[in-house]
Amino acid sequence: MITENLVYGQSIAADWQQELHNSIYKPMQLLELLEIADSPLAAKIAHKQGFRLQVPSAYVARMRKGDPNDPLLRQVLPLLEENRQLQGFSHDPVGDSIVEKAPGLLQKYHGRVLLVTTGACAIHCRYCFRQHYHYSTAKPFAALESIRADTSITEVILSGGDPLSLTDQRLAELAHNIAEIPQIQRLRLHTRLPIVLPTRVNDELLAWLTGTRLQPVIVIHANHANEFDETVNQALMRLVNAGITVLNQSVLLRGVNDNAASLIALSEALFNCRVLPYYLHLLDRVQGAAHFEVSTAIAIELIKEMQIALPGYLVPKLVREIEGMAYKVVIK
Ligand SMILES: *Cc1c(COP(=O)(O)O)cnc(C)c1O
Ligand code: SF4
Repeated sequence: MITENLVYGQSIAADWQQELHNSIYKPMQLLELLEIADSPLAAKIAHKQGFRLQVPSAYVARMRKGDPNDPLLRQVLPLLEENRQLQGFSHDPVGDSIVEKAPGLLQKYHGRVLLVTTGACAIHCRYCFRQHYHYSTAKPFAALESIRADTSITEVILSGGDPLSLTDQRLAELAHNIAEIPQIQRLRLHTRLPIVLPTRVNDELLAWLTGTRLQPVIVIHANHANEFDETVNQALMRLVNAGITVLNQSVLLRGVNDNAASLIALSEALFNCRVLPYYLHLLDRVQGAAHFEVSTAIAIELIKEMQIALPGYLVPKLVREIEGMAYKVVIK
């Protein structure tokens, strides 16, 4: 019996919703599954109330057993280090609150708006810059009126949270309403679900996404080559084969992907599914994520090493989001 899935607005659970419901929420349970419950890592865990551990089993299955430094585990395990208060790390590092046009509608850049569709995610990434965002105020359908009123907007980006944690029924309705706004040409989704819960890429999703007049673009979010397995590859290939442009953005994270070999392997894993790397983000300085920060100088070196090893189209743009800038700033 699945009762919680009422939150996703549907009483009959799809397979992916069932899987989501069976996610891991207890840090010690996760360490036990990975056979590292007696490692020193256990003493470093933060037991959180708010932005707690959340990770689907399908993602846990790709973590290496017996390795406290596993790059996937590091992305999700809440550590006591998160409680450190550091100068320069804030609750809203990219200035979301000052660019709100309507509740949940953010516009920073010309021609495109970002619609916060939900606060829910399938996974809680410890470095997430929106971990302190006030989601309860987001009203995606109400925001459409202010999109309609601005004829300079040609692209709507569904973000969150993770937009694919909503049901296909609701998303189809949203896509339909967006397609009715004449100036909109592209519908973009920023989602981590094809990586962390690949069963989310189902027939219903492909139907509404390819069934509008809008050009679909999906920006996935993978940080490490170990995040790919056969199920993920197949999910990504389904999107690509349906004619959807699929790009990837990553965050450069200390202890996860801050070496050239990892980043090169990630680009290769992406292109293996015909996904192109788009952005490699420097960490947004959000309260609780300081232990993931990699210096700009090291980041530039890593990009140089990628340029030596890879064709240009497999080298992502290294970017930093700077409040008040008209685009994401490329670091060279
Ligand atoms: C990142 C971001 C976008 C998208 O920027 P692109 O450079 O087009 O990928 C749009 N709106 C907001 C608020 C963003 O943070
Ligand atoms: S999936 Fe995206 S929005 Fe959700 S916690 Fe991870 S980084 Fe943040």
